[in-house]
Amino acid sequence: MTDTADSEAADAGALADRVRDGDLRFHELEAHADADAAAAARRLLVEERSDATLDAVGSYGFDAAAAESSVENMIGAAQVPMGVAGPVTIDGGALSGARYLPLATTEGALVASVNRGCSVVERAGGATARVLKSGMTRAPVFRVADVAEAEALVEWVRGHGDELAEAAESTTSHGELLGVTPYVVGNSVFLRFRYDTKDAMGMNMATIATQAACDLIESETTASLVALSGNLCTDKKPAAINAVEGRGRSVAADVTIPRGVVEERLHTTPEAVAEINVRKNLVGSAKAASLGFNAHVANVVAAMFLATGQDAAQVVEGANAITTAEVDPDGDLYVSVSLSSLEVGTVGGGTKLPTQAEGLDVLGVRGGGDPPGSNADALAECIAVGALAGELSLLAALGSRHLSSAHENLGR
Ligand code: NAP
Repeated sequence: MTDTADSEAADAGALADRVRDGDLRFHELEAHADADAAAAARRLLVEERSDATLDAVGSYGFDAAAAESSVENMIGAAQVPMGVAGPVTIDGGALSGARYLPLATTEGALVASVNRGCSVVERAGGATARVLKSGMTRAPVFRVADVAEAEALVEWVRGHGDELAEAAESTTSHGELLGVTPYVVGNSVFLRFRYDTKDAMGMNMATIATQAACDLIESETTASLVALSGNLCTDKKPAAINAVEGRGRSVAADVTIPRGVVEERLHTTPEAVAEINVRKNLVGSAKAASLGFNAHVANVVAAMFLATGQDAAQVVEGANAITTAEVDPDGDLYVSVSLSSLEVGTVGGGTKLPTQAEGLDVLGVRGGGDPPGSNADALAECIAVGALAGELSLLAALGSRHLSSAHENLGR
């Protein structure tokens, strides 16, 4: 051990002793030591309770203070390997050019599969992507006396949009209230607030802004706020409202692959890919009453979310996607993917962590965009193109019956 390592270990040991003696609480260590020493002390305490050895968890490559707004009771980091697929050329509304796509995953064969899809998209001249709708939502629930009072509340909300916007926007310099949609169930009234959150994913921003609007509603009407989130938002739960109305970014990507490229590179035909898409992604998903009508969009969304510091639990909504595939009049293969509720940001949350910030740098979308919102739009377009490449590659693997052999060779 070096002298510095010796003294850090001594600091951590002394901190751990103070917790054992009841002098300090486990969650208070950062108030008495730097964040790395606090994490080291916790590792000692967890190791002695669990018989685990936390050397790998403790070998993280960033200053623990950088993670203070991302995690509490920090003991280290769970490291996920990161690879890249591409480069793939994207003709987007917010981004144009070739990009490597960063993917953090433990699923062997995933990056190889997306990479194969990217190379085929590249052969076709690149993919087109566009953000078609944008808005982060928060839907508080209010209690009213009865349906007559519910109607009165809805009327009040409809007649006071400017005041609601003023209250909500007083809490943020970037957020803008786009609208409020009311839903009534008996004596419960849900108000779905939708915001332009620019480059932020916006869940904290929308929550804080909505609280200010709710304060105004409670002061001006008879309604009583029961919960700031009434689950019609809908955050981190599978929900048809997000599939229909969208949440975060609604983004689509498509490509037309020449027949020759499908045959030579994917060893299948446009007809086979189109049939698999109909029977599997459309009919199969309908029979299963699935919300996602796709093959594995969640794979790319999860891997790119981890690589770029997005909120991992929002893969639930991110996987809300429909894939289409058809043979065009020239006999070529048209494939599209439409993600209705991709919640992404390039500022705030986990995007500040050093490795995730570098993931955003790979795409050239770290931080606030010019104009504001354009970086988060660009990130959404990159993820949509990654999802398109993944769909294409998997559908083709099924068409050429190579799926199980690819997993056998790469995933084990
Ligand atoms: P945030 O880290 O809370 O805030 C980001 C802030 O960055 C914005 O509020 C904005 O400040 C500022 N900002 C600077 N430049 C900006 C730009 N170009 N565009 C937009 N904002 C800019 O991030 P958030 O996106 O609102 O929330 C993300 C976090 O929420 C994640 O950590 C996620 O895990 C967590 N989360 C919270 C809830 C919840 O219910 N509260 C639910 C799910 C997830 P101003 O507002 O002052 O302009």
